[in-house]
Amino acid sequence: MKIARIRHEGRVLAARVDGGTVYPVVPEEPRFMADAVRDLIAQGTALDVLGAEVPGIPLAEAELLSPLAAPQKIVCVGLNYADHIRETGLETPQTPLTFVKTAHTLTGPTATVRVPRGTTEQLDWEAELAVVIGRTARNVTAEQAADHVFGYTVANDVSARDAQFSDVQWFRGKNFDAFCPLGPWIVTADEVADPHSLAISARVNGETVQDSSTKEMIFGIGETISYVSRYMTLYPGDVIATGTPNGVGMGREPQLWLKDGDVVEVEVEGIGLLRNPVSVHD
Ligand code: ZN
Repeated sequence: MKIARIRHEGRVLAARVDGGTVYPVVPEEPRFMADAVRDLIAQGTALDVLGAEVPGIPLAEAELLSPLAAPQKIVCVGLNYADHIRETGLETPQTPLTFVKTAHTLTGPTATVRVPRGTTEQLDWEAELAVVIGRTARNVTAEQAADHVFGYTVANDVSARDAQFSDVQWFRGKNFDAFCPLGPWIVTADEVADPHSLAISARVNGETVQDSSTKEMIFGIGETISYVSRYMTLYPGDVIATGTPNGVGMGREPQLWLKDGDVVEVEVEGIGLLRNPVSVHD
């Protein structure tokens, strides 16, 4: 099952996507709902009947938004693909190397990533498989972790390398507005037989720049959830971005940076595709 957040006729709604049709779920109190999908996950709603009582609308008539708007946190794993570590020349971490993106970075699967002119000369992409937490996880084992996964989506961990590496913390370079395109929907875990054997790729203006598999991950999803949950509780709707393979702009020869007018696509097999134009504005 695919769960999305859509804008339709001026309203933002959670929706179940079934083929070319979306079945919106109309919240009773939309005023109070910061994130309808996160709330559905937290409430353990029976999702397969979502929207069954309302007429569907064609997917083409709905604007897909980032499937989550206000997760409590987006935990990112850096340097988690062996081929990516080789291109960066950095040491392989002994434990997952984590950092955070906050909710203001989230933007939709086709939204324009708008970057203020003069803030970065090294704008880069990172194709990532993102895990959405379904049940609160606190100090769980890697084996238990699967019970805490709601589903999977696609993230582009957009990064300003000059800002990232001129600071001790990666916070600024990873957290410009719109630096986390997410979506196009969440595919529930029951529909993903093995999240560690999915093709993962990125294209810039149609040219393939990343082409790998999630089997190249160093720390698997269960191991990462277990590790993170020792230190901080993971809540329903939290997102874990599991790292990127080789082929980012920073690691290329010569280096390649995103510029105004470029279109960057990120795709994970069986999950979906992000297609985001880049705009540099004054
Ligand atoms: Zn990343």
